[in-house]
Amino acid sequence: MHELGLATNILETVQAEMARRDGAHAVKVELRVGELSAVDKDSLQFCFDSLVKGSDLEPLELCIEWRPHTRRCQACEKVFEVVDYNLVCPQCASTDTQFAGGDELEIVSLEIEEP
Ligand SMILES: [Zn+2]
Repeated sequence: MHELGLATNILETVQAEMARRDGAHAVKVELRVGELSAVDKDSLQFCFDSLVKGSDLEPLELCIEWRPHTRRCQACEKVFEVVDYNLVCPQCASTDTQFAGGDELEIVSLEIEEP
């Protein structure tokens, strides 16, 4: 994953949204990032801040909501965090588990200040 490209995409999305709202100013963008999206969140934050600095979007803030890799047990319904690629249910030891989350990469919300 190229964090700089991702940060550029996010800012383009924000700019497009601002263009539709005359005079409005974006203050905060919230991004949901899953563990499996292969995004380095520190690197993304750094790229984002570098791009915003000195631009007309300043001082736009990026808020990253981190989502761990989770699976749901088909036997006991337990949703658990996957650690070290261990896909076995920690509650009942069943191996019948399904992917439940962790590949998210989406803008959750955009906080805007109207003039
Ligand atoms: Zn279970």
